[in-house]
Amino acid sequence: MKRRKFLGAAGAGLVLAGCSKEPATTGVTGEQARQTYDWKMVTTWPKNFPGLGTGANNVARLITEMSGGRINVTVYGAGELVPPFEVFDTVSSGTAQLGHGAAYYWKGKSEAAQFFAAVPFGMNAQEMNAWLYYGGGMELWAETYAPFGVMPLAAGNSGIQMGGWFNREINTVADLNGLKMRIPGLGGEVLKRAGGTPVSMPGSEIFTSMQTGAIDATEWVGPYNDLAFGLYKVAKHYYYPGWHEPGTTLECLVNQAAYDSLPADLQGIVTNACRVVNGDMLAEYTARNNTALRTLVKEHNVDVRPFPDEVIAKLRALSKEVVSEIADKDAMSAKVYKSYSEFMEQVVDWHNISERAYLNLRKG
Ligand code: CA
Repeated sequence: MKRRKFLGAAGAGLVLAGCSKEPATTGVTGEQARQTYDWKMVTTWPKNFPGLGTGANNVARLITEMSGGRINVTVYGAGELVPPFEVFDTVSSGTAQLGHGAAYYWKGKSEAAQFFAAVPFGMNAQEMNAWLYYGGGMELWAETYAPFGVMPLAAGNSGIQMGGWFNREINTVADLNGLKMRIPGLGGEVLKRAGGTPVSMPGSEIFTSMQTGAIDATEWVGPYNDLAFGLYKVAKHYYYPGWHEPGTTLECLVNQAAYDSLPADLQGIVTNACRVVNGDMLAEYTARNNTALRTLVKEHNVDVRPFPDEVIAKLRALSKEVVSEIADKDAMSAKVYKSYSEFMEQVVDWHNISERAYLNLRKG
């Protein structure tokens, strides 16, 4: 309160910068400090959905809190303001200033986008964050969305997902033949080449589609989210691991013009709110997947099983093919593929003698 009063009386920023009572670091002038912004955030997730929806809420809450209400963010769940798959366009046009989703939903905008969410047999959460923040990934992501007037920020990670729910056993590659499965992005293309039929649909439609038999299988996220959707009621077998989503990055989309209109301190609040949630969500998933897995097995008698080696070998080979082909789609995709695969090659060398070596050594 004191600060606001003072700012109101003092006026121009140059005066403030010279005043010892006020921090000069933000460079915010009196007029800028009084300016408030009512922002909308549209999301691809059902409102308040555990992990994903609440992650979006956390971004909004942190921006509002840290800015002392100078940016007031209102969150709209999937379908409340626009359908889930219109989130990107809505932020691009400026109808909403923020969006929360996953980059693989936007491959229709740019094939390169898929590298910023999840790559089958690609990098895990820890490796993705390393690439994005310290390996040039964020810069390439920004370049990919720039033609649409959208700025991306990493804003959550599910960690490795589960392979999915199947209404029949998958014992051989042939069992994938004709399998109609909800699986987005590159994983869907891999399934297609393995003989299946990938279907893309938002989370909110999964349960009913499984129940009616419109699809035979579905992946969603992991135990925490899959339990919340009640998927154990509509499929018998729960396969692991999520080869297609080894550490999915969620994103916050920011309308570039809206971002540019903010004073520097508020820009910092927007970017750092996302950075906080990016790490926080991974911690939450790691903690909550444990308890949810126990509930699924002990209370709902879910049959949890690994994909057979033969199936994984086939999917791995096809994934390599599918991912490398994206590089041929356009110049941006080639650039992102190069950066992603070079970084992965290096981090694999390191993780083989660090994370992998340790987990093997620990044995449980
Ligand atoms: Ca998924």
